[in-house]
Amino acid sequence: MTKQLPRVDVVLVGFGWTGAIFAEKLTAAGLDVLALERGPWRDTPSDFATTFAQDELRYYWRHGMFQEASQDTLTFRNNSAQTALPMRRWGSFLPGNGVGGAGVHWNGQTYRFLPSDFVARSHNEERYGPLPADMTVQDYGVTYEELEPHFDYFEKICGICGQAGNVDGETIEGGNPFEGMRSDQYPNPPMRMTFSQDRFAASARALGLNPFPVPSANMSRAYVNPLGMQLAPCTYCGFCEKHGCGNYSKASPQTTIIPVLMQRPNFGLRTNSEVLSVEKTPDGKHATGVTYVDTSGEVWFQPADIVILCAYPLQNTRLLLLSEIGTPYDPRTGEGVVGKNYCYQVMSSATVFFEDEYTNGFVGAGALGMVVDDYNGDNFDHSGLGFIGGGYIACGTTNARPIESHPVPEDVPRWGSAWKRAVRENFLKTTSVGVHGSSMAHRSNHLDLDPTYKDVWGRPLLRMTYDFTLNDRRLTEHLTPVAEEIAHGMGGAHVKVNARRGSYDSEPYQTTHNTGGTIMGTDPASSVVNRYGQSWDLPNLFVTGAGLFPQNAGYNPTGTVGALAYWSVDAIINRYLPDPGPLVRP
Ligand SMILES: Cc1cc2nc3c(=O)[nH]c(=O)nc-3n(C[C@H](O)[C@H](O)[C@H](O)COP(=O)(O)OP(=O)(O)OC[C@H]3O[C@@H](n4cnc5c(N)ncnc54)[C@H](O)[C@@H]3O)c2cc1C
Ligand code: SF4
Repeated sequence: MTKQLPRVDVVLVGFGWTGAIFAEKLTAAGLDVLALERGPWRDTPSDFATTFAQDELRYYWRHGMFQEASQDTLTFRNNSAQTALPMRRWGSFLPGNGVGGAGVHWNGQTYRFLPSDFVARSHNEERYGPLPADMTVQDYGVTYEELEPHFDYFEKICGICGQAGNVDGETIEGGNPFEGMRSDQYPNPPMRMTFSQDRFAASARALGLNPFPVPSANMSRAYVNPLGMQLAPCTYCGFCEKHGCGNYSKASPQTTIIPVLMQRPNFGLRTNSEVLSVEKTPDGKHATGVTYVDTSGEVWFQPADIVILCAYPLQNTRLLLLSEIGTPYDPRTGEGVVGKNYCYQVMSSATVFFEDEYTNGFVGAGALGMVVDDYNGDNFDHSGLGFIGGGYIACGTTNARPIESHPVPEDVPRWGSAWKRAVRENFLKTTSVGVHGSSMAHRSNHLDLDPTYKDVWGRPLLRMTYDFTLNDRRLTEHLTPVAEEIAHGMGGAHVKVNARRGSYDSEPYQTTHNTGGTIMGTDPASSVVNRYGQSWDLPNLFVTGAGLFPQNAGYNPTGTVGALAYWSVDAIINRYLPDPGPLVRP
């Protein structure tokens, strides 16, 4: 039997980066806010102490902080002709679980999408002519210029370390010459680079490219953010990605926002509480709150005036579908919106093996790297290339986790004494140049509810239908040789190319940059939410996160996810609360 709880002003579903951002701003505006998080409480001293935070077996291989597949999973297939099967072990991406979400174990590479990324359809059609009919690329409905103050604020909350390339229209040497105009510098200087980045930068420059430091949420120096939270200088311990930071050196919800929030009397948090559905008024025109289940199996109804989905693109999409909010997308007709434009990214790389020089890859950090943007977005002429979009090319030294990292040249056997010798010889002498490619929306790639498989509560699992598209394949074929050329110029003895071929494979880790499914736009016929993240169907329901992206850019998503969250919460406080109702009339 469902028990009813006292009403709150706002209920947040999920408490990662986006949940923390909404909670902080809405409680500061005086609202009573409750966050429901399906995972446990997590904090730096208790859960990421430096004495055990680097346990690779526990955290990476045994998925110590990620969503358990036994708790919830999805089914996967490459195309609609196949039968989707449940992912019984997460591989290609690793959804977060627990307070802080994936913001606990992210790397911290914090980019702003390019101005042209927000107008991908109109910009590319204007420059190159009509896009192919099955390419369902759309404009966001919000521009880079509108988001700029919110990018800036998120960077200050996180203390991002980087080199600006364009402040108030002035091009600055050493920064990204392609970036959109910034109102301010990064709050902190770039991280200190290692041998690998210096060699990458020299090789890229020799090819006429423009290397700059990866904007990093790993601190280059001590920093105090606008909320008074203190971050410590990074020790380059190399256990950032897939691990929590015990050193208070990586910006996460825990180190930048949550301690301030927990002291506010108008904020509440319930952990181990999984939201099952969003409830509506009988006419289906307003959200009344959410139903959730706690660990004892008790089911509760939490009434709220405003519901905000902060549960990551996959869960946000599933909750809308399960709650029968919005029309599900149908790839055969192209009609419907929920689940539409699921996108991912296309990765490839070139490994450089040095003979007598040491790269010492164990000295690293999640966002330590040099990068070139010359082949990203529309920073180069695509005429005659047969694809749009692009990617950045970077040399990052994020880690050398000993169980995972054992790069050896192609001609080495895959086991036995020769393999062991090669691992010994190369472990300290390799680095990698990676391509991080965009993913353009395609009519066939989508999310819906699985007709066969159900979770422990008897609800259909989410079904993912996804494969790399012709655009993706052409993109990776164009960019991987550039990475190879840079790699050859770095002075190593040997370069091994790890190209992206064949269909998308859900097993090897690629990125946790799943996007789409709850896309934003200018029209209810082609988007789930309006330009403020407000549902077209229920004006007191907001959705946030990378599910809003109509297609995925070449960058890591969280800088743009943070900016969009601040943009939406600003609209709730300054536009919705004074006059509750639709913020955009179709
Ligand atoms: C290993 C790794 C490295 C990454 N590195 C980078 C990087 O360098 N740069 C970058 O830009 N991005 C990176 N990312 C991605 C980044 O972590 C995400 O973009 C970001 O955390 C998304 O924030 P979010 O609030 O949308 O979702 P999350 O952080 O995933 O938070 C969602 C929360 O909702 C909870 N939840 C889900 N369903 C329910 C439900 N039904 N009821 C209640 N709670 C629920 C989840 O448990 C979770 O805590 C990385 C991700 C991973 C996993
Ligand atoms: S590399 Fe730096 S930011 Fe990352 S976990 Fe180690 S100390 Fe923390």
